[in-house]
Parts: sequence; structure tokens; C-alpha cells
Amino acid sequence: MSEIQFHNTLSGRTEPFVPLVPSAVSIYTCGPTVYDFAHIGNFRTFVFQDVLRRYLKSRGFRVVQVMNLTDVDDRIIQKSAAAGVSIRDYTDKYIQAFLDDRRALNLEPPEHLARATEHIEDMVALIQRLTAKGFTYTSEGSTYFRISKFPAYGKLSKIDVAGMQAGARVDMDRYDKDNVRDFALWKAPKPGEHFWETAIGPGRPGWHIECSAMAMKYLGETLDIHSGGVDLTFPHHENEIAESEGATGKPFVRYWLHAEHLLVDHEKMSKSVGNFATLRELFSHGQKPSSVRFLLASVPYRRQLNFTPESLQGAAGSVDRLRTFVARLATGKFPAGASPAMAARAAKAREEFDESLSDDLNTAQALAAIFDLVRDVNIAIDRGEFLEGDAAPVMGVLESFDAIFAVLLDDDAEKLRALGFGKDSAGPSDAEIDALVAERQAARKRRDFAASDRIRDQLAAQGILLEDSRDGGVRWKRK
Ligand code: AMP
Ligand code: ZN
Repeated sequence: MSEIQFHNTLSGRTEPFVPLVPSAVSIYTCGPTVYDFAHIGNFRTFVFQDVLRRYLKSRGFRVVQVMNLTDVDDRIIQKSAAAGVSIRDYTDKYIQAFLDDRRALNLEPPEHLARATEHIEDMVALIQRLTAKGFTYTSEGSTYFRISKFPAYGKLSKIDVAGMQAGARVDMDRYDKDNVRDFALWKAPKPGEHFWETAIGPGRPGWHIECSAMAMKYLGETLDIHSGGVDLTFPHHENEIAESEGATGKPFVRYWLHAEHLLVDHEKMSKSVGNFATLRELFSHGQKPSSVRFLLASVPYRRQLNFTPESLQGAAGSVDRLRTFVARLATGKFPAGASPAMAARAAKAREEFDESLSDDLNTAQALAAIFDLVRDVNIAIDRGEFLEGDAAPVMGVLESFDAIFAVLLDDDAEKLRALGFGKDSAGPSDAEIDALVAERQAARKRRDFAASDRIRDQLAAQGILLEDSRDGGVRWKRK
């Protein structure tokens, strides 16, 4: 297998990936600020992080991923006050929506989902550690990080610290800090605002300290990978480095991976621009979860992704093609025997697939390897040259593909119903049941019993019973 290479923002280079502990990888991924539904730009980054963890797992690593949920910030305080509910009740709703959206996109759950408000003590302890080392000062009840005390500041984003200082000086009197570059670790409460009573005074944490404290709590003082969208490089990640390395004196993160933005009309999708779409909006227009996942995963993470309705249609077509192909392999009747040439063809596809992903997760090239294989196998089938024993090695490649891309199981209708879209009490149509039964047959054929059981359970939950007949077929009936 090819050596894994990742582009590291810190070094500015693509480097061989070697984790600190040989068989395990620790990953910290900046999560959403839960004041609203996440948009598909956010999900571009979250899908990339899912592809990353799935790929590392497929290479045999044990992955421990932490994702934070920023459940306190200015917007949350304002919006919950406007809605007349507590911060907790306000954010619960959007956390639940985020988890539901993740499930719809087949994003594996991180090992730790950490709410900021449940880690206030850890943040306070980290601020105290920084204070003990002389990195902080207080002003009007807030605590700030003094950047001039941390000479390495700017090493991640390569920001011109001196220029930033000079250019911003005119704004100095708008701040109650010694230098505009300094950032708040702890914010004094404004009148009427929610606050925590702590050893460093009343207030609430700054955003950056949240990630430093939670990352080190769960993953130790040096992590293998830290990732987020490119907009987080400065100041968020730069500040996380200053806080963490200031406190520990050790390297905070070995590999920084940043995803490029999802764009609309060549502009970053964002809440503030207003050019955003939530997953739910797409679903309510009849788009499928698998199309969205496929589209977001198909463009390598360091390339910008310009989102258009056509690109989503293209993704839906690609997923259909792959599902039809798997069903054809599973249900087709092929002549007995096996051809060494087809086994070699499958092995070549697998090698190309792995090589592409090992090259900084080049998903576009990995997909090309899969579609080339699909084309060649379809040609062989049409010519009557594809033999019964050829199905297993080809299915094996598709299984490796699906361990990363996770789009083959045809459960879109079910997922949409779970989110409240599509038909409800009437249950699935005959055609939908037939499709799921065929999908289950395909899963059994590739010996993916977890998937086949999932489909059977899903149908059972909707009152549809399956009977496996002796000739290998399946009959279904409604209870
Ligand atoms: P936020 O909820 O704004 O803190 O963002 C959550 C994650 O989404 C962060 O990793 C951001 O960098 C990322 N993100 C925000 N907008 C986009 C976008 N248009 N494309 C890709 N990632 C984004
Ligand atoms: Zn963060």
C-alpha cells in the first residue's frame, strides 16, 4: 500500500503521515456554532473530516476524533434571549438538528462530541495555567492573551504580525486591551447576560480557549491531526496554537488539515452573505442525502467546490450508476468460471483507488478508478465475457469504495422520512421495497451482513416482512 501523504498547513508542504503512536490517530475537528442549522458549506468540511477518518480506519488505524459544539457565543446569547428561552434549550434544538443531518449524510459519530458549556472548568484551568506563565493580563474583568509573549505567533497562517499591528493601530481605542492583536480568553459579562461564576471571575469563555481545552483534555497535549475549513486558520487556529503551546511548551498539533470552501457563484457560502442552503432545503426540493454526500466528497478537499444544481444532478446520476451496477453484479446470471484477467483488472482498480486516497485524499482520482472499473466490467458483461467467479473481486473493490464514500445503500427514502420529508404513514411503495430487497441481496452477496441486517430491520420497522426462499430469492409481504 502507498505511503499516506497529507498537506500540512503548518509546513506548507505535503508530508508523509506518521502518527505519534503507530496504530492510533488522534483528530480534533472544529465543530459548528449551534445558533442555527448548519449549511452545506459547513457540511463540505464535515464530509471531508468523515472521509479522512474513514480512510484512516480503512488503513488499519484506530481513530479517536473529538468534535466540539460551540454552544455559547454572542449570537447564541442574543438569539436565545430574543426567543425567551435558556441557552441550553435554544442550542439543544440545533444540536439535535446537526446530529440528524450528520446521520442523513452517513457521517460517522466522532468518539467525543464535546459541548463547550460542559467544559468551562477545563477552560478556566487552562487560562490559570497561562496566567501562571505570564501570558495573560486582565482588563475590566476580561482576560486576554498577550501575543507579544509568544514569538511563534503567525507560524500557521504565515500572517504578517507586524503589519497587522501597524494597520490596526488606528482602531486601538475601540479595544480595552493593550494591543489589538491580543485576544480574549475570558469575557466579562455584559449586563443581563448569562455568565459562569468561576475562579477567574464571572464571565464566559472565548471561542479559541474552548478548542484548546477540549482538544487537550481528550487527546493529550500533542495531537496528530487538527482540521477545519480554511477560514479557521486565522485567527482561530493560530490562537489555539498560542494558548496550547504557551501552556504546555509542547507542539500542539503535528498535522493541520484545512478544507477549501464551498462556493456559490464563486463566493464563499456563508450565513452572513445569505447565499446559503441548508440540507433540509435541498431535501425539501427532492434532493437525496446520497447525492449531497457524493458531491461534497467527490471534489478533493483542498480544491474549492462551486455548488450548482447541475453538479448535484450529476452526483445523483453517479450514485445511480453505481447502485445499478452493484445490483447488476448481484442479480445477474453469469457463465461459470473465473477469469484471471478480470481478477487482475479489479486488483488494478483497487491499487489506483488506494494510491489516489493516499495522495492527500485525492477523491476525484479515486472515483475515476472506480468508474473506469465499472465501465470495463459493464463492457465485459455485455460481451458475455464476465464469469460468475469474477463478481467477488469486483464487489470487493466496491466495498472498499463504499467504506469511504458510503453511498451504495439505497436508503435515501428512509432517511428523508426520518427527517420528516416525503411520504409518511402510507409507508414505502412496492417499488421502494423492491429496490431495498435488491439492495439487501447485493449486500448479502458481497457478504456485508451488517448492511443486509440493517435493511431487513428497516423494512421490519415499517411492517414489511422478508422471507428468504430456498432458491436464494426473497419474498416480501406487508404485516
Ligand atoms: P462554524 O459553524 O461557522 O464555526 O463552521 C463550522 C465549520 O464549517 C468550520 O470548519 C468552517 O471552517 C466550515 N465552513 C464554514 N463555511 C464553509 C464553506 N463555505 N465551505 C466549507 N467549509 C465551511
Ligand atoms: Zn476550533
